[in-house]
This record gives sequence, structure tokens and C-alpha cells, in this order.
Amino acid sequence: MKIICIGRNYVAHAKELNNPLPSEPVFFMKPDTSLIIRNRPFFYPEISSDIHYEVELVIKIRKNGRHILEKFASTYYDEIGIGIDFTARDIQQKCKEKGLPWEPAKAFDGSAPVSGFIALEQFSDQDNIGFSLLKNGEKVQDGNSGLMIFDFNRIIAHVSRFVTLRMGDLIYTGTPAGVGPVAIGDTLEAFIEERNMLTCKIK
Ligand code: ZN
Repeated sequence: MKIICIGRNYVAHAKELNNPLPSEPVFFMKPDTSLIIRNRPFFYPEISSDIHYEVELVIKIRKNGRHILEKFASTYYDEIGIGIDFTARDIQQKCKEKGLPWEPAKAFDGSAPVSGFIALEQFSDQDNIGFSLLKNGEKVQDGNSGLMIFDFNRIIAHVSRFVTLRMGDLIYTGTPAGVGPVAIGDTLEAFIEERNMLTCKIK
């Protein structure tokens, strides 16, 4: 399986990092070795001294497809979860300055904790799903799927023009404002609406 991540999909987050707003979805990938499942801890890697959390809604692809039309995209997923797109901000900043690829900043081992998945049909409106992240018990990020620049269907239509989607692939759909650093000893907890979906301790 593969992990596709969308960048700059919330206006307030693009602005907090001084990035221009995209005219089409920006995407990058993480390998399966970046996954952390079942609330296992994240071990702070020696490659960076400025790892940031980015909480994101994650959709799981349920069947294979390519060149998917936006009007059919909703048939390619029916479950949602939440994940953290850990980012080595110090490395990413250097990559951006030099125009180099982001993988060293985004694709490292353990950079993608993810929750279990729940049926999307539990939500009456897919464009109004609230989610949040707590760091050591304090809310640091607060998002809503309705604030995405590109919705789930648009993302799937765009990405599948380039990359065949396969059953089990995950799409991290971008982070709202409020990203910030983690330190060893921190605990992150991610919520969809009131559901505590994911806990990640930093070790
Ligand atoms: Zn992200």
C-alpha cells in the first residue's frame, strides 16, 4: 500500500507557513514504513531537531482505480480515520529553499501514525466533519472537512490522474492551522468529532 498526502489544503495553514494557495491539489507520498498503528509510540528521530505534528483526516481507498472522475470518486472510499503527518520542519525548510524534494522531511520511519477507521456513513454531512488534536491535554489544532480547499472527491480525481489508487491506500487530506513542535515526553491525542481515535506518545 501507499500513503498519499495532500499539502496546503487549508487556507489558514497555508498562510501560517507563508505558502501560496494552490490552484490544484499538492500531493506527495510516504512509504508504508512510515506508518505507526495501534497507538504505538513515535520515537523522535536523530535526523531532525524540529519535528512538527500535523493532524489530518485520512480516507482509505476501498477499490482500485485510475483516471477516476470526480462524480464517481465517492464510490472509492467509505471509511475515515485520523492521522498525524509528522514533518521535520527544519529539513523541509532547507528543501524548500533549495527547491529539493520533500521526502527527507516527510517520509522518514514513523512519520505517519494513523488511527483505526470508522464508516463515513456515520456522519450526516461529509463536508462538516470536525476534528482536533490535543497536545498534553491542550487543544492545539481544530479543523473541519468543510474548510478543505479541495474535498475528498476532488483529491481522488486529481491524484488518480497520476497514480493508480489501490485498495488499502491511505490519503492524508491536509492539516488545518496550528501546527507546532513535539518534544520527547509529549502525548498527542487526535479526535474526530468527540471520538478519541488516536493516541501517540513521543519517546
Ligand atoms: Zn500534512
